[in-house]
Parts: sequence; C-alpha cells; structure tokens
Amino acid sequence: MNQTPVRVRFAPSPTGPLHIGGVRTALYNYLFARQHGGKMIFRIEDTDSTRFVPGAEEYIIESFKWLGIKFDEGVGIGGDFGPYRQSERRDIYKQYVDQLLDSGSAYLAFDTPDELNAKRAEVPNFQYDASTRMQMRNSLTLSKNEVQALLDAGEQYVVRFKIEPGREVHVRDLIRGDVVVNSSVLDDKVLYKSADQLPTYHLANIVDDHLMQVSHVIRGEEWLPSAPLHVLLYEAFGWQDTMPAFAHLPLLLKPDGKGKLSKRDGDKLGFPVFPLEWHDPQSGAVSSGYRESGYLPEAVINFLALLGWNPGTEQELFTLEQLTELFDLSRCSKSGARFDFMKGWWFNREYLLQKTDQQLAPDFVKLLEAHGLSVEPDRAAQVIGMMKQKVVEYTDGQSGQTKKRNISFISDLWPLCDFFFIAPKDFDLEDKFIRKNWKETTAQEMTQLAEQLNKVADFSAEGMKAAIDPWVEQTGLRPWNAWRICLVGKGQGPDMYELAAFLGKEETLNRMRHAIDTLK
Ligand code: GLU
Repeated sequence: MNQTPVRVRFAPSPTGPLHIGGVRTALYNYLFARQHGGKMIFRIEDTDSTRFVPGAEEYIIESFKWLGIKFDEGVGIGGDFGPYRQSERRDIYKQYVDQLLDSGSAYLAFDTPDELNAKRAEVPNFQYDASTRMQMRNSLTLSKNEVQALLDAGEQYVVRFKIEPGREVHVRDLIRGDVVVNSSVLDDKVLYKSADQLPTYHLANIVDDHLMQVSHVIRGEEWLPSAPLHVLLYEAFGWQDTMPAFAHLPLLLKPDGKGKLSKRDGDKLGFPVFPLEWHDPQSGAVSSGYRESGYLPEAVINFLALLGWNPGTEQELFTLEQLTELFDLSRCSKSGARFDFMKGWWFNREYLLQKTDQQLAPDFVKLLEAHGLSVEPDRAAQVIGMMKQKVVEYTDGQSGQTKKRNISFISDLWPLCDFFFIAPKDFDLEDKFIRKNWKETTAQEMTQLAEQLNKVADFSAEGMKAAIDPWVEQTGLRPWNAWRICLVGKGQGPDMYELAAFLGKEETLNRMRHAIDTLK
C-alpha cells in the first residue's frame, strides 16, 4: 500500500446514549490519528430513521467535549468532505446503488414481509442467499417487463447485494491478522430501501469511508461479522486498492468476565455505562453517567485506554499526551477486556490525589451546598486535606455486604465529614464506641480538658499539642476517645488537634460542654 495520510472516523448512530465501549472506540481512534499526524472525522450514521432518538447526537457531542477528545472534521465542525450526517447525503448514495445494479453486483427484491415470513416458516434457518434467491420474487427471477411493471405500479423494493458463494474473503485486521471467511455463510444483505429512499448502514458506511478517504477503520468487535461483506462491497465498487485497514477492538466484558458488558451490570453493581447522565426521552428513565457520578475525565480516559490495550510495562497512569505517544494498535488484545469498575475507582482516586485541596474545594463546596451548608472554599479545602486519606463504606452490589474502600470521589466526603460543619446533638447510647469510651469519670475528665484548652492562647494544632500533650503525660489521663465523642459524636474523624483547630476554641468548648451535659 502506498503512504496515504491517516484518516480515521468515529461514526456513531444516534440511537441512544453513547455506550462506554463507544467512548473507548473513539479514544483509540483519537490516539491513533494524533500519533500519526492524521485526522479524525466525526460522522453521524442516521440512515435508520426507525431507530433515531432525539437528543442522542447532542449527547454524543457533549460527551466528547467533557472528555477532551477533539475531532478534526465532521458534524458540528465542518470540513472538505461534508456533509457528515448521512441523512443529508441521500443523493450521494443513489448513484452508488445504481452502479452496483448496473454491474450486476446487486438486484431488486420485491418480497413482501408476509412472503419472507412464509419462506422462513418453510425453510429451516432460511437465509436470503445464493441457495434461496432463485425461489424469491426479485429481478433475478422476474422478467424485465415484470420488474418494470412492479416499479411502475409503485411497489416497494429493496436492493440486495448479490454474494457469490464459495469464495474466501480476507479481512486484513491490524489486531487479529488475516481473518478468512467463506462467502457462502453470508447473506444477500439489503443495501437500500425504496420505502425511505435511504441506503442501509452497510452501503452508506462503505461509500462514506471511501469518499471521506478513510485509511483505517477502528471499531468494536461487534462489527467484525460485517467486515467480510464490507470487503466484498469495496471489491464490487472497484475500490479494493484504497480499502481501509481494519482493526476490530476487543469486546468489553462484564466485571466477572462472563459475557458482554451491559447496562444491567452497571445498574446491579453500581457503576455507570454511559459517559454522561442520560434522560431517556421516551420513558423518562435516568441512567447514571461518569461525569455526574464524580469521575474526572482524565481518570475515565486513562481507565478506558487500558481496557484492551497495554503498554507492555507496569505503568498504569498516563496523560492523554503520553497515551498518544505510546498507543499501539498491535498491542491491543484480541480477547475481551474485563470491565473492572473498581479499577475505575482506583484511577479516579489517583487523579483526585493529584489535585491540590484547593482545586478540589469547589466541588466539595457544591456538595455541601446540596446539603444546605454554605462553606468557604478555604474551609472546604482544609477538610479535604484532613479526610482524603480515609476510607468509606459502600454496599457491594454482588453480595449486598458493606465493604470499605479508599475515598475515590468528592461525594464520598459526605456524610463522612458532616461533623465538621454540624455539631453532634444527640448521642447514640447503643454505639459501641460511645459505650466503651464514656465512663462514669469521663464527664469530669472532659471538664478538666476543657479548662486546659480554654487556657491555650495559640489554638492551632501545634499550639494545642505543645500545651496539652505535657498535661496528658502529667495527669496520666487518656482523653482522646472521649474528646472525639464530644467533637464528632462517634468514633471517626481526623487528628483531634487538627479538628479542634478547624472548629476554633469557642465551637470546641461548646461541643464539649454539650456532650458533658448530655452524657454526664
Ligand atoms: N454506525 C456504526 C455504529 O453505530 C458504525 C460502525 C463502524 O464504525 O463501522 O457503531
């Protein structure tokens, strides 16, 4: 092959929200294009009007905006090969349908749905192909005059691709090598429907890849079964010399590796399968998205990049720039990639920790606002600093058990951090920590500690430590857990000096007085 410039495309059909697997496909196309100084096209494949879902196209565009994946040409961008929305290209396709009809590579079929159903009932595993097409009502079995009469009468028809049986079809795949399929297993696919005067996916996809000078088709494994048909179409058009190279990416599998990842897995185990929250326009149902669930776009990119590709080293954290440099189609796996959503948590945590507390503060402020609290970003940042290394409890979707994990999302900080802003009022007398640590003498000890704290002039963590540590040593008291009950209300939270410094002297002493009065 000669050195054609790299041109790839991401070509979703606007049939609903973009699946996370589609995001990975787009990412790999993007990395490949960038790496080769090529172009990436954004094409909308909307020739199946029955599956069109309003809002889907906008959703897809917004998803990539959020993720920072930029296209060079296409819908909403423009370019020299437009229009890029297939529904706006009707007139272009017609001549290519005619070309196939004229050369005898395709034929008209007039079979009605009833006729097709009758045939399916009659012939087990019926397939419209070389073995059956001569029993059907099409331009191969009808005379020229009969065909013309049907057309004149306005009968609906489809155009079918005439596949010659018994041929070896080779799909050159950059991940899978040479995939060979015998053409006898393929059916005479419908390429065009007179009813809506639109081509089907197969024809429009091939014509557009050709006209848009696509050099590499990088797409999900679910399209591999269509690839032999696509190769035959390129040949039928006489375009085999400029046929793009194929790369069919491995499937995304369920977290347990058994079967294809589905939305239901996400619902059950508690992770999104869509980049953004999706509001179904028909049912009104809301599906969760990575963005709204508190993932950082960098984390999602990094997580997806490693689902099906690996750099051959132990390194796991990559910026988009690094990925662009290292990505290699030949290092993509053939076998499915297990969707380890907990690894997604891990990535998000890593990216959260790369940010400063100040950078994280605005999102935490928003979270607090949602709980009716108005907190200065500076104070919010302090709390993040004290708490980001803590663990949170979550419910394991598989077993229903309560488990612990590292803080991986800003939203994990609530209700973990409520006591910073809301003083404990009632104390749970059944709580193990309280029962164990609040004894008969405790109220009196806390009164003494409060007296000591009241005398501390520098109420910073260091200032308190300098004054209180020696007093603790001298008296032999062990006030920490009870003090924690006073300020937190339970056995959680950060270092006590840090917490008291954050609350300030007045609030600290108020909380202690309240606990002493209530618990006595
Ligand atoms: N429109 C197809 C889809 O929705 C594109 C498949 C391809 O990339 O060829 O994924």
